[in-house]
Amino acid sequence: MANAPVLGIDQEQEQMILDGVDSFIERDVKPYVSELEDQDIYPEDIVEKMKEMGLFGATISTDYGGLGLPVTTYAKIIEKISGAWMSVSGIINSHLIMAAAVERHGTTEQKQSYLPRFATGELRGGVALTEPDAGTDLQAIRTVAEREGNQGYRVNGNKMWITNSIEGNCVALLAKTDPKAEPRHKGMSLFIAEKGPGFEVSRKLKKLGYKGIDTAELVFNDYHIEADKLIGGEEGLGLKQVLSGLELGRINVAARGVGIAQATLDESVKYSQMRKTFGKPICKHQAIQLKLADMATRVEAARLLTERAAEAYQKGERADMEAAIAKLFATEAAMENALDAMRVHGGYGYSKEFPIERMFRDAPLLLIGEGTNEILRTVISRQLIERNPI
Ligand SMILES: Cc1cc2nc3c(=O)[nH]c(=O)nc-3n(C[C@H](O)[C@H](O)[C@H](O)COP(=O)(O)OP(=O)(O)OC[C@H]3O[C@@H](n4cnc5c(N)ncnc54)[C@H](O)[C@@H]3O)c2cc1C
Repeated sequence: MANAPVLGIDQEQEQMILDGVDSFIERDVKPYVSELEDQDIYPEDIVEKMKEMGLFGATISTDYGGLGLPVTTYAKIIEKISGAWMSVSGIINSHLIMAAAVERHGTTEQKQSYLPRFATGELRGGVALTEPDAGTDLQAIRTVAEREGNQGYRVNGNKMWITNSIEGNCVALLAKTDPKAEPRHKGMSLFIAEKGPGFEVSRKLKKLGYKGIDTAELVFNDYHIEADKLIGGEEGLGLKQVLSGLELGRINVAARGVGIAQATLDESVKYSQMRKTFGKPICKHQAIQLKLADMATRVEAARLLTERAAEAYQKGERADMEAAIAKLFATEAAMENALDAMRVHGGYGYSKEFPIERMFRDAPLLLIGEGTNEILRTVISRQLIERNPI
């Protein structure tokens, strides 16, 4: 069993990759997190290192210059990076969701033109779906891409909360090509939008956590986009293309949750042996022991659920409910562990001298992104009924 294949690569190869990621985290991430996070500085040097390691092409096929890693391995990488600093995982996560949209749904020309540049990180970015008045209800977006004969499209509208949109140079942009269509999704299309005249960053958004990484509001003001930038070359498929990427996105976010849940546990296990009260380390007090046990149990369960969803996805099996369950559980685990870790650390948990305070601010985003956990519960229960008709 020592070298059984891990869905595409063997265990030895996977271990080598993960060891490389561990060294990168220890050498290039951990020593700099505190300062970069505190001052909300974009981690340029870390990004350069990730380019060198090929991480911008982690899940892009080797045919297009990517590493072609299975999602199971990619989830482990994301878990490790998030345990050190969640923001760094976001720099590649939404970039790779954009890449997956092109790889799965793009024309041959689009794949050949974009994927090699995505893989090196020459073109970087994310996905621009959310608007000031539409997040969960994506069909209510108002950004319009109006056809201009054979010249392409003229895009007008605003996008909100777009990750990687200041430092990046490209987004997968969801817009209405037919605002009157019924059902509404038939009028929605997805474009590869590179920065240019009319594509403006109107403001960088200030956030509770998830610092360092850029999140912005975008304005498209008579932005011209050529017809060959329409993903798949056919109008009306945009929402479907976006939704098909959500399984992968949810596995990614679940892996981030596992990373934070594990890191907050590790910090707590360490601290509880160092801190003494009433003549003994606090890990000898039952109240602390109960918390550590609950935290460890959440981590194990979250990781297994995430692995199960990643394996189903990698094998091409149905994974919508599995990914939703993993995302729901692992992100709630991250939030609960962050709070428990703060209790274990007492006053020091609230201090910037320890990483718990940052993880406690980062974790809530996981409850919101890639489908809020409220919506995911409705997805799971809908699937339960669909899969178990009487
Ligand atoms: C830091 C950050 C980064 C982000 N990055 C990106 C990005 O890169 N690209 C992008 O496109 N978006 C991004 N987002 C946006 C994110 O995806 C949305 O915030 C999320 O989808 C929720 O949408 P909303 O904020 O409009 O909330 P709303 O949709 O207004 O929801 C508000 C509340 O109502 C609940 N709710 C809504 N509808 C229902 C329903 N039918 N049943 C039950 N409850 C419901 C929700 O669960 C939530 O609790 C980012 C957000 C943040 C905070």
